[in-house]
Amino acid sequence: MKIFKFGGASVKDAGAVINVGKVLKRYENEPLIVVVSAMGKTTNALESIMQAYGANDKLLSTELIQESEAYHQTIIKDLFPNDSREISTEIAQIFADLTAKCEQQFEGEYDYHYDQIISLGEVISTKIIAAYLNTIQFKSQWMDARKLVRTNSRWREGRVNWEVTEVLIQAKANQLFEQGNSILVTQGFVGHNSEGKTTTLGREGSDFTAAIFAYCLDVEDVTIWKDVPGMLNADPKYFDNTVLLEKISFKEAIELAYFGASVIHPKTIQPLKRKKIPLYIKSFLNPEAQGSVIQESLAYDDHIPSFIFKMDQVLISLTPKDFSFIVEENLERIFGHLNKKKIRVNLMQNSAVSFSFVVDRARIDLDKLIQYFQTDYIVRYNEGLELVTIRHYDEPTLKRVTVSKDIILEQKSRQTARLVIKDSL
Ligand code: ASP
Ligand code: MG
Repeated sequence: MKIFKFGGASVKDAGAVINVGKVLKRYENEPLIVVVSAMGKTTNALESIMQAYGANDKLLSTELIQESEAYHQTIIKDLFPNDSREISTEIAQIFADLTAKCEQQFEGEYDYHYDQIISLGEVISTKIIAAYLNTIQFKSQWMDARKLVRTNSRWREGRVNWEVTEVLIQAKANQLFEQGNSILVTQGFVGHNSEGKTTTLGREGSDFTAAIFAYCLDVEDVTIWKDVPGMLNADPKYFDNTVLLEKISFKEAIELAYFGASVIHPKTIQPLKRKKIPLYIKSFLNPEAQGSVIQESLAYDDHIPSFIFKMDQVLISLTPKDFSFIVEENLERIFGHLNKKKIRVNLMQNSAVSFSFVVDRARIDLDKLIQYFQTDYIVRYNEGLELVTIRHYDEPTLKRVTVSKDIILEQKSRQTARLVIKDSL
């Protein structure tokens, strides 16, 4: 058994879905579980819908829902030129329910409603894709990951309960394969808590879902199909002359993902490493090509310098007003708040009397954060920064990324250099 994962870009329109069908044809004779993300930018669109709902802006939520429905219905029309009635009605119903929900006065916990709404992108994409695969002669079956992946009740970032999840996934997948299905199509990114309420695993969490299924079913291997040829030593968006990393050890991949290499979600590797399940990263545009493989090995890290860029960063520095040192008590206070607000810290550094951390500007409410810390700390911040991580750095690579930049902060270990930089004026 194999697990395949297709992200939003690989199913962004009818042509893309047809291409997914072609990729799958190459593996027709083996049992497959296909984990799929929401189509294109649907998750972002659903986030906007959630915001409008939370603000009781019914006009806006209705308009945005109509837009998203039209996008999906166009894909359906193109994929099912002969008879799209059944799937079209099913999807229309999901949007009708969503519209009805958003027409009610908003009440309750924002993050709870967020998960109920945001998870729909994956539900919709998998319904369409499972139906499409059946029209091209696959024995495919839609499988509801919301009922299989058990998490705690931390909305937007559910923590997986592995024991329960393993039992649920094994029972369901085995049952569906025994019924003669050869492809099970399921949602990335979603789960449920012990009360059966839908949860999500954190943005971009579909890779992690693929790893969860792989771990629970002890599969042969996992493939993440991307629009890049594999794991590159830098994001081609920011860098020319990228190099494909053909073979990567689990250990190295964990480091790269942790520092923010965008090809794989950071939580993906550890479950696979535990069971020694290889992870392939391949191009859905060029499925014959070898791509990258991440697997257990000591031998073959080539130590090619890899660059990980995070743009639009903000550096926040806190100095206690009571002249206390940055030790346990202050750290507990600071991290307690960041954890409560689900703010991910990309880099941190401290001196005796100040603590600095770097976060994605887009993911925080900067004013609120400053306001909160201002009670006890002198707060300084610096926006518009880039965070560059270089694995296996050397002098020329450091020079390459700092041309006409000012270095605001720098951390180096033997293998890894991390620089917070800003365009020189
Ligand atoms: N659709 C979700 C997101 O965009 C999950 C994923 O794509 O991995 O965050
Ligand atoms: Mg996505």
